[in-house]
Amino acid sequence: MTYMSGNKQVAVITGGNGGIGKSIARSLLRDGFFVVLADLKDEVADTARDLENETNGNILGMMADVTDFTSTVELFNNIRRETATESVSVLINNAGITRDATIRKMTYEQWDQVMRVNLYGAFNCTKQVVEGMIGNHFGRIINISSISRYGNRGQANYAASKAGLVGLTLTLARELGKYGITSNAISPGIINTEMISTIPAEILKDYENKIPSGRLGKPEEVAELISFLCSEKASYINGEVININGGFFF
Ligand code: NDP
Repeated sequence: MTYMSGNKQVAVITGGNGGIGKSIARSLLRDGFFVVLADLKDEVADTARDLENETNGNILGMMADVTDFTSTVELFNNIRRETATESVSVLINNAGITRDATIRKMTYEQWDQVMRVNLYGAFNCTKQVVEGMIGNHFGRIINISSISRYGNRGQANYAASKAGLVGLTLTLARELGKYGITSNAISPGIINTEMISTIPAEILKDYENKIPSGRLGKPEEVAELISFLCSEKASYINGEVININGGFFF
């Protein structure tokens, strides 16, 4: 079955089955996008069906491994076929993992896994959309960086990957701005999703006490910023890295 996107613009969210990904999907569905959630496990199809029922919007869930270039080629071929659209309008590079350890204990595998998902994944997906966006003279690329980009104990791999995303973002802005494409990164603080369940309770409490806004962030708050960056209102914001962290820095 082919799901025509009609006159709707197509927005792709990687890691779309996660806490922030689902919230972004809700906001973009409300904004009238045809949304594609891409994620590792087949549960993503159920998530998409649930969100379709909840919002009455147009959404598909597709399995893909962003670390695998061939998998991303297939993903975007499937998206173009299923939505009968030549060009994806919005790409949110949101898939991300942590494998925390101090540099003395960090293994090569921990370093490699995080770089492959967080940084290579963004490159692989960006490569699949750039030519279509140039042809369409429109595009929004949003990379989800992190407060850890400034450096954080136990996160050499994650911090390096998230700082790397900033370099990618700023370069895309310089190269693609003239084609009507904006490239921005957002840098969330501590957002209440599954990802932070690996932070020990006492450390999380300590962070919470130090957050000037007095609480953890909500995925919906991140999603609203992304919704704005995807809108016409944000057409002159390009090459920015926007913190959304309640005023908190490590
Ligand atoms: P989640 O762990 O809830 O979601 C991440 C999603 O990415 C998961 O569904 C995960 O699948 C998926 N994923 C992992 N590897 C791959 C892969 N190879 N290909 C495709 N999908 C994959 O995390 P959040 O929603 O909290 O995080 C979303 C983004 O926001 C991440 O980039 C994260 O680094 C960033 N961020 C989060 C913060 C927070 O405090 N929560 C703070 C700052 C930034 P699976 O579950 O199967 O592994």
